[in-house]
Amino acid sequence: MNRFLCLSLLAASLIAQTGRAPGNETIQRGKLRADLFFLAGDAMRGRLTASHEYELTAEFIASRFERLGLIGRGSNNSFFHRFDLVLGRLHDGNRMTVTAGLPARRELRVLDDFYPLIFSPSAETKGSVVFAGYGIFAPALKWDDYGTAVKGKIALIMGGEPGAQDPKSAFDGLVTSEYANVLRKAMWAQDHGATGVLLVSGLQTRGSDAFPKLARTYWPAQPPHLEKYTLAVYANRIQIPVAEVSPAMVEAVLGNANLSLASLRAKAEQGGGAATIALGAEVELRTSVKRTIVEDRSPIAMIEGSDPELKKQAVIVSAHYDHNGADGEQIFNGADDNASGVAALLGIAEAYALAAAQGQKPKRTVIFASWGSEERCCGPLLGSWAWLEDATWPLEQVVGALNMDMIGRSEEVPESGGPRFRGLKVQAAAQNANNVHVMGWSYSPDLSAAATEANRTIDLGLVRKYDNNASNLLRRSDQWPFLQRGIPALFFHTGLHPDYHTVNDRPERIDYAKVERVARLVHQLSWNLAQSPVRPKFDTKRIIPPPE
Ligand SMILES: [Zn+2]
Repeated sequence: MNRFLCLSLLAASLIAQTGRAPGNETIQRGKLRADLFFLAGDAMRGRLTASHEYELTAEFIASRFERLGLIGRGSNNSFFHRFDLVLGRLHDGNRMTVTAGLPARRELRVLDDFYPLIFSPSAETKGSVVFAGYGIFAPALKWDDYGTAVKGKIALIMGGEPGAQDPKSAFDGLVTSEYANVLRKAMWAQDHGATGVLLVSGLQTRGSDAFPKLARTYWPAQPPHLEKYTLAVYANRIQIPVAEVSPAMVEAVLGNANLSLASLRAKAEQGGGAATIALGAEVELRTSVKRTIVEDRSPIAMIEGSDPELKKQAVIVSAHYDHNGADGEQIFNGADDNASGVAALLGIAEAYALAAAQGQKPKRTVIFASWGSEERCCGPLLGSWAWLEDATWPLEQVVGALNMDMIGRSEEVPESGGPRFRGLKVQAAAQNANNVHVMGWSYSPDLSAAATEANRTIDLGLVRKYDNNASNLLRRSDQWPFLQRGIPALFFHTGLHPDYHTVNDRPERIDYAKVERVARLVHQLSWNLAQSPVRPKFDTKRIIPPPE
């Protein structure tokens, strides 16, 4: 090696050295491993929402934040952001009758022909039915399926969204957009004056007994191992009854108007308000759902910025702490999902605390959030949505959100992976040993470039795929609500693997050296964001990337 090369290498390493976030090297695999073994140990029984072990996990995380000398940034400046979930149970008295033409007044049977949705209030209505396409109201996309046609009427809407299979669809390409969320559709219908909502999803692909089966899966006779919840803040907004109806029933009603579900679907794809059709059917609907409130919480803390101006802005680092609990002897430990992310979050929080003790505080404020109930439907991401609805920091002052969920393995998609892998390309773990997915990159080129910069000395393979992928990975963790609110956000994720959501997702299967590197990367990136004179821009004219 010649001298010149030696000097330039030295210079390069000095630059890297000065750029390194203070405390970055304190994030160490031994500590991450110890935390992860506790969080994903059998004693924590899979950290299921509302379980005793879930409560303990939240206490553990909050007490670590407190011990590190961080400041609580949850509700009332405590270490917990508190929110309520609604648990619904099918109650007596669900009724529906349809009158369409003559002499067809029909009494429908609950669970055979229709059922109330989990978030439906107990309510009733009576009136004529208007078809309103997909039931989407998206002014930003110049799309309104309602117009004035549903005022005082019952809206019949379809599940899903336009162009679901079209990679170039304005509705997030192949990713299911937030516009397909049934809860939001019910709110839009209500806002447009509808007195009730009938939803038809599924369509003709199912046999005649498919609907009753589906209905009994949706409303099982016994409380299921995994309960369905709705955020109370959303459930409370919906005052009108909302029910799913069987495709067969809808076809029967449509027969009178010489229409079919397929023709309605074609209409729905046109959208723009053109889809509404008065169906000439009268419906009486009464929904009856018994509600229980379940209290929930997300541990949240912060380290206050040192710059008098910039400290008003915050960088959020997050990882959800819940998982799928235990079913008798079967424990879903959730080591990768997502004890790995929580261990990293605690490691990053400690790095900030240790640096601050040496007088090196970030210029901007850094918030550490461990979201609750990410895994629970419907829809999921309850803790992060709850926070965005009731934020403990001004949202316009959040410069970016960095979310970690499953960062301790390597993506592995087996030949016969089945539906869990939703069409992802077959690949071996060894191919991905050095890789981490960085999703959300297409929403903020600035933030994406900052990730590359932060990775300079860490040298992981940053994989930018799946922002437009039918696997829906982009919307399957807590970065999603932030992206919906126009906040630059990245999702760090080492990929699905055969142990995902099985009892084999255990702590001894985690690659701790990799968790250390991903945690250091996220720490470095959060520090760089906290120090930068400029904040990353959200790309409001985002071009949906080609699918992978
Ligand atoms: Zn997860």
